[in-house]
Amino acid sequence: MKKILVAGAGHGGLAAAAKLAGAGYEVTVLETRREGTLGHDWEDGFSLGTLAKTLGIKVEDLPSDLWRPRGDGAFLSPSKKEKIIVHYGPTGQRVVWRKTLINMLLENAVKHGAQIRYGVEVQGPLVENKRVTGLITSQGNLAADLVIDAAGAFSPVRLMLPDDFGIEKVPKDGDVFYSHRGYYSKAYEHQPEPGFEVYLYHEREQGLSWFDTSSEGCDVLIGRVFPLTPEKVAEQHELFRKDHPWFGTELLHGGQYAIIPVRRPLPLMVADGYAAVGDSAFMTTPMNGMGIDLSINAGGLLADTVIKYDSADAKNLWRYNRAYHILYGANNARNHGLKCALLALPYQAIDFFFENGIIQSADLQGAGDNTSLPVLIQKLIRGMKHPKWFFTLLGGLIKGTAAAKLYRKPPEEFSLPEIKAWSEKIESKDVKVEVRTQ
Ligand SMILES: Cc1cc2nc3c(=O)[nH]c(=O)nc-3n(C[C@H](O)[C@H](O)[C@H](O)COP(=O)(O)OP(=O)(O)OC[C@H]3O[C@@H](n4cnc5c(N)ncnc54)[C@H](O)[C@@H]3O)c2cc1C
Repeated sequence: MKKILVAGAGHGGLAAAAKLAGAGYEVTVLETRREGTLGHDWEDGFSLGTLAKTLGIKVEDLPSDLWRPRGDGAFLSPSKKEKIIVHYGPTGQRVVWRKTLINMLLENAVKHGAQIRYGVEVQGPLVENKRVTGLITSQGNLAADLVIDAAGAFSPVRLMLPDDFGIEKVPKDGDVFYSHRGYYSKAYEHQPEPGFEVYLYHEREQGLSWFDTSSEGCDVLIGRVFPLTPEKVAEQHELFRKDHPWFGTELLHGGQYAIIPVRRPLPLMVADGYAAVGDSAFMTTPMNGMGIDLSINAGGLLADTVIKYDSADAKNLWRYNRAYHILYGANNARNHGLKCALLALPYQAIDFFFENGIIQSADLQGAGDNTSLPVLIQKLIRGMKHPKWFFTLLGGLIKGTAAAKLYRKPPEEFSLPEIKAWSEKIESKDVKVEVRTQ
């Protein structure tokens, strides 16, 4: 095995590219955007430890001006009458400009010998004899022994794989958030405390929005389970302006639409000659859409597996697939159950959970992991005032826990019939989400 193509300069793809090129493989990353334009024009949180490990340095050796701590957060109920404060603390969330982060990962990949080709649009996989043998691109077909798919949630590589590969392609309702994010000027100086406000079921729509005044200007995110239009974004901004009169109109950064996967990872994400990492395999924490650490860690795991066995056969790549689920996928499958239950409920239920202490600060800080037995019993007593809503929530947790158990025990060997049966069992634990556009 020699040639590796990475579709998209995503975090996981770049982490894998650096390790694989360092081990002597001929690695080419194909990126549709132009050089110097990569990464979102905003700040996000992730673990500096993961970045330092990938760069092969200590956290203390990262540039001291790389990050800033995210201040406390205020989570508001749909009615906006209830507010829960989450204290992230001095060692809590640290945010970094995404362009800086991706440039560090790019430089690292290049330093280890990976080649980056900008302005190349990947259009689909080349498939011969049930094996991915390369990529169809805007600059012609390119052959490879292994294709790493790091081209995001709607990756054309994954979407165009043959059905009999058994890899899930199109996300279901509620599996992705459609977002718009921009940093806007302040009409006048104002700094509320906490500056970071998260609105669940904002304006009673499925999804969330945030308004962060702790960053440069006003960082405004609109996230919904349905695609956003410029009119919808403008409408939501106007609504924000009513209770945030300091929200100015000049766009300072961002102003882009982006997809955030918010679901459990793909049960099967490999085939002969193919492995998905990052958003293309839905590697985020469903409750908060955080996927940088998971993608980078997955890229490292994939590279280690390829290097150890020097093989791009599905039976080897399945080792990576299994290891990812045992280490990370299972927790996110559990989290997915809770997220789906919340999205399946009407906004009035979320108000009820806030008002009755069923959603608490620890739940919001840990993205729904605060589920010890005493905590659940306490919530059960409070939730009995509205059993239907409470049991939908509990059902999501129970189904998520059952799915997590399955993710922790994937089939030992790569066998498509076994993997299919296992995936179907996982799917049977899903809580159905219906998208309501109003
Ligand atoms: C508004 C928002 C806020 C977020 N906040 C956080 C956060 O706070 N913390 C966190 O951990 N995560 C956060 N995420 C999620 C995070 O951005 C992703 O999980 C993460 O970027 C992993 O994505 P990736 O590396 O797989 O691919 P991406 O970052 O999506 O990169 C994919 C790359 O592939 C390229 N590409 C796409 N299609 C093609 C093609 N056809 N041909 C060639 N190249 C292609 C793209 O140009 C891009 O460079 C947020 C996401 C959004 C949208």
